[in-house]
Amino acid sequence: MARYTGAVCRQCRREGQKLFLKGDRCYTDKCAMERRPFAPGMHNQGRAKKLSEYGMQLREKQKARRYYGVLESQFRKYYEMAAARKGVTGDNLLSILETRLDNVIYRLGFAMSRPEARQLVRHGHFTINGHRVDIPSYLVKPGEVIALKETSRSKDKFKASLEANGSRPAPKWLDFDQNNLVAKVVALPAREDVDLPIEEHLIVELYSK
Ligand code: SF4
Repeated sequence: MARYTGAVCRQCRREGQKLFLKGDRCYTDKCAMERRPFAPGMHNQGRAKKLSEYGMQLREKQKARRYYGVLESQFRKYYEMAAARKGVTGDNLLSILETRLDNVIYRLGFAMSRPEARQLVRHGHFTINGHRVDIPSYLVKPGEVIALKETSRSKDKFKASLEANGSRPAPKWLDFDQNNLVAKVVALPAREDVDLPIEEHLIVELYSK
């Protein structure tokens, strides 16, 4: 499965904001955005470039892709799915991205970042409706039940992540039973459930040209 393999922090520096892709490190002064808060490249230090309309749309799309760890071709497919659904395309796009299994695992607090959640899914730690699913891009649906696999429950890693993420409650579209480590999808996420600073209308404008 294809994924971005370049320097992770470079993505935040390119977007000019923290994307929280490295878990704990993002909250320390080792964060590259604390030490070098300018775009990568020799000539970018200290310069704030004025973006064209197209530039702003492109940056917003890239930022959303990077938050969720999605490559361009997959992102475009999500846009096409969103446009084909009823309702507002931008809202639909964010709703689709939020329902990716790796994002759900991150939202539930099993992982410190989306890239880590992706890896945990790939390693087969989770089930959906009782069946092991190891596809990070799997889109969960209302009524489905996501659980940490029985044999993974004793792992210290999950206990530590759930404890560290205790202050980050699960979104209301997921009914999370913390004692049994099981979550039910009760609805599709709405726009207000997505707390990321994304201006999705710019992405729609970009793709609908
Ligand atoms: Fe981004 Fe985290 Fe790297 Fe900071 S440490 S630049 S927030 S990925």
